[in-house]
Amino acid sequence: MTETQFGFDTLAIHAGAQPDPATGARATPIYQTTSFVFDDTDHAADLFALRAFGNIYTRLMNPTTAVLESKVAALEGGTAALATASGHAAQLLVFHALMNPGDEFVAVRQLYGGSINQFNHSFKSFGWNVVWADADDVSTIAAAVSDKTKAIFIESVANPGGRVTDISAISAIAKKAGVPLIVDNTLASPWLCKPLEHGADIVLHSLTKFLGGHGNSMGGIIVDGGNFDWAKDGKYPMLSEPNASYNGMVMYETFGNIAFAITCRVLGLRDLGPAISPTNSFNILTGMETLSLRMERHCSNALKVAEWLQNHDAVEYVNYAGLKDSPHYDLHQKYCPRGAGAVFTFGLKGGFEAGVKCVSSVNLFSHLANVGDTRSLIIHPASTTHSQLTPEQLVQAGANPEILRLSIGIEDVADIIADLDQALS
Ligand SMILES: *Cc1c(COP(=O)(O)O)cnc(C)c1O
Repeated sequence: MTETQFGFDTLAIHAGAQPDPATGARATPIYQTTSFVFDDTDHAADLFALRAFGNIYTRLMNPTTAVLESKVAALEGGTAALATASGHAAQLLVFHALMNPGDEFVAVRQLYGGSINQFNHSFKSFGWNVVWADADDVSTIAAAVSDKTKAIFIESVANPGGRVTDISAISAIAKKAGVPLIVDNTLASPWLCKPLEHGADIVLHSLTKFLGGHGNSMGGIIVDGGNFDWAKDGKYPMLSEPNASYNGMVMYETFGNIAFAITCRVLGLRDLGPAISPTNSFNILTGMETLSLRMERHCSNALKVAEWLQNHDAVEYVNYAGLKDSPHYDLHQKYCPRGAGAVFTFGLKGGFEAGVKCVSSVNLFSHLANVGDTRSLIIHPASTTHSQLTPEQLVQAGANPEILRLSIGIEDVADIIADLDQALS
């Protein structure tokens, strides 16, 4: 099967998956096992020395998870992928491969609140220093680059503001600086946007959101774009220098265009340990088979809800890149023309109080801290996901006190609107 000839919807179902060689099972089985028997002692030695690929132990790889990894790599157009226990674990492993204490990376402020916390606090404690810039003014990104910079980090469609980032303009800055551009593509999913086609080098997802899509399993994934030259100027010793824990093997020399994914697996995942459970991989694989159908409905519902909110008396403004008067409308047309996603924010005239009241009055909507579920979800970021941020950071992250965040589900849109209507009145 030459998978590159197939369209996106076909790949979402078939990429990476074959009838199970052991049993003929058509759906990918859940290989719920911690470990795998070696053929003989030579085979075991080859696996441990990375002279042969194969299953050893589920912390490192697992056949159910391998199908998930191949599928996401195919949908994103990458060379290889590595699944992890959560989106944040994927971020940890990416930076672990790139950073040494004292190094810097540039990130834009318009990010998922959890990423802002991870970068500001836990990463700082490792000596990995974030330098913040503004996604809406790419000159601030160029200005934030120094000779200590090892990467630039953005989201394609950003959480929570429903905004779209100018990936190719930022890629040009990364190329000039000689550092990889890392794109968190969680809110777009590859159905809406493929960052590697716009110059990204590494793509990340929280599989917990649209790829799994049903709000039932945590997961994350790292996709290797396969194009970055890790040896060029010695900035990335974990990739370009002999590795003492693999008898002096040089990852980039040995693994070429999949070296980044392999390094995250055999050094990051091996030593730090945030492996995804095979059952979660199975749940996410099942969800991904309907990714296109779900995203199409998510986006069309979201646009209708955004348009309806825009005309509602209680609503001050709606931040959704799919609306023609949005400052991000042109970027949405460029990077994700099939839709502007399902997550966006709106501001209530009644401020913080009105926000809290609306969240407590919904029935069909669930009040919770997730996005990308089949169900419609609502949250008040300022008092929850973004509550650890200072008032200034709240505004910079697009989480002002009067703002509510919606993740529009795939229910009947009339029912979604009716629920908001009764909550707002
Ligand atoms: C949820 C989310 C994450 C973190 O993923 P987890 O699976 O919750 O660890 C990162 N980025 C974005 C955009 C997210 O929505």
